[in-house]
Amino acid sequence: MIYNEEFETLPREVLEALQLKRLQQVVQRVYHTVGFYRTAFDEAGVKPDDIKSLADLARFPFTTKQDLRDNYPFGLFAVPMSSVVRLQASSGTTGRSTVVGYTKRDIDVWSELMARCFAAAGLNKNDIIHNAYGYGLFTGGLGAHYGAERLGASVIPMSGGNTKRQIMILQDFGPTAICCTPSYALNLAEQGRAMGVDMRNLKLRVGIFGAEPWSDKMRDDIESALNITALNIYGLSEVMGPGVSMECTEGRSGMHVFEDHFLIEIIDPETGSVLPYGEKGELVFTTITKEAFPLIRFRSRDITTLNIAPCRCGRTHVRMDRVMGRSDDMLIIRGVNVFPSQIEAVLLNIEGVEPHYQLIVERVDTLDTIEVQVEVSEKLMDESEGEVRVLQNMERRIVKDMKDYLGISAKVKMVEPKSLQRFEGKASRVIDKRQI
Ligand code: ADP
Ligand code: ZN
Repeated sequence: MIYNEEFETLPREVLEALQLKRLQQVVQRVYHTVGFYRTAFDEAGVKPDDIKSLADLARFPFTTKQDLRDNYPFGLFAVPMSSVVRLQASSGTTGRSTVVGYTKRDIDVWSELMARCFAAAGLNKNDIIHNAYGYGLFTGGLGAHYGAERLGASVIPMSGGNTKRQIMILQDFGPTAICCTPSYALNLAEQGRAMGVDMRNLKLRVGIFGAEPWSDKMRDDIESALNITALNIYGLSEVMGPGVSMECTEGRSGMHVFEDHFLIEIIDPETGSVLPYGEKGELVFTTITKEAFPLIRFRSRDITTLNIAPCRCGRTHVRMDRVMGRSDDMLIIRGVNVFPSQIEAVLLNIEGVEPHYQLIVERVDTLDTIEVQVEVSEKLMDESEGEVRVLQNMERRIVKDMKDYLGISAKVKMVEPKSLQRFEGKASRVIDKRQI
């Protein structure tokens, strides 16, 4: 089913005319309301009036995650706080993380786009949706929740964790659809089986999974473990949250980007130049209807390809392939975003620890694990005379700080001074062994 038949199936030329009009408006608006954009445009020598066609956008400067951090928390908002009805933040980041705001109308649009996603998955008001995305600052939970309500479905606001209870609810309430991260779906299937529950015979029909990278192999595993159709959904808090793009049921053929609200470009991450459809590069988003937190040419760092070929479902919106990687070093550990530099910051705050560390990421069964190996200082080694208890206390402290500041559960191993690899040139701190 197509939730908004009119806008999701606009002929390309009509859609592009609409995009141009909306783009001109938003560029004008940010130029006059957000100091950051005025300065950035002036420095690049461009004016809002320069947008005469969609291609003109390529002359405008990019916005990066660093720009968002520099303007933490509300510096890029384009409306006064009295018009903001909701604040959310990107998962698991300390201090200068990414804070996003929404007006009432922004929430309205977001709800509609999430409703479009559910409809694209074949759901309607008769469905019961088990929402296991985390509720809270993270955009997943509330984003999906409002969309499910907009569709008129019955939503179960489960949030994440408490797996045994989730399995009980899956049996008792009989939801027909589930949304969560793909790794959590596998985890549920596994724990359910361990509890003796026949997970293939629940009422579940469809799963809507996203917020982290996954593969078709994982999709096969989830589909067979839960006996459902598993679909991919994509989003990022900066641009809106979940529901920026969604697969339709026309067979694993990419996610339609809701282009009446977002302009999407694909660029060469090295040179910044715009690439044609079909080429692999980094996604760049411009929001053309957002009020509170409009973004111009935001570099997502997500690497994929775009496909403009018509889709059998009738939607005319461009499709993006699954995210194949990132052009930065961000890790997603059980749905929590974390940069090695943030882990480093936590380590460097602790006396007796050397700034030499290695991160080992693995997937054990269905769960991501991260081990931090870090060198103890010679000084501490001497003072403690190698006493095990001192090192154990240190490990415990690091585990706690990682949890408190970054929201991730890590295994920490203190190693001898000078035992980790040294790098000439760019350090490669992360060993990612996940096969997904
Ligand atoms: P969210 O709340 O949607 O996870 P975040 O801003 O915390 O938003 O994280 C966004 C990032 O999560 C994206 O830039 C992308 O790297 C990753 N992501 C989201 N959805 C998917 C998906 N379906 N496949 C792969 N990666 C995804
Ligand atoms: Zn389609």
